[in-house]
Amino acid sequence: PSSKETPVTHNHEETLVLVKPDGVERGLTGQILARIEAKGYVITELRMLTPTREMLVKHYEEHEGKPFFEPLVEFMGSGPVVAARVTGNRVIEGFRSLAGATEPTTAAPGTIRGDLGRDWGEQVQKNLVHGSDSTLSAERELGIWFG
Ligand code: GDP
Ligand code: MG
Repeated sequence: PSSKETPVTHNHEETLVLVKPDGVERGLTGQILARIEAKGYVITELRMLTPTREMLVKHYEEHEGKPFFEPLVEFMGSGPVVAARVTGNRVIEGFRSLAGATEPTTAAPGTIRGDLGRDWGEQVQKNLVHGSDSTLSAERELGIWFG
């Protein structure tokens, strides 16, 4: 074949998805996981737990020192979360696209945050889900949540 395009053959990825405490509390875990499966991604590991502060400080180390760091860690430790190992080609970018923009108010309709989230007048960190943002973060974060 004379195509200049290099076939992408190394795009199989794994990502960490978290259903945050607001998603679990609102009973949206099933809907969120269903959207991941409906898109064609495969959940290969799943657990529900209330994370320790130590896990959360590691998980959010890139945000340490930012004004929202403490409220974020406190919120994420406020109740059970569901952690999922999700696999598929380009799943890191694909899940973040499915999740939508960070702010639920302006996240596009059709996305998890855009369809199921809103501004509750206080905690901006309530945006239902987390998804790793790179292969490096995914590997690091999966280590924290699944050992
Ligand atoms: P994400 O990758 O879209 O989840 O967003 P970031 O990595 O930038 O931020 C991590 C998380 O911190 C977000 O999902 C929100 O829950 C929270 N967050 C981000 N920005 C703010 C902010 O300005 N204020 C507050 N309170 N929380 C924020
Ligand atoms: Mg992030």
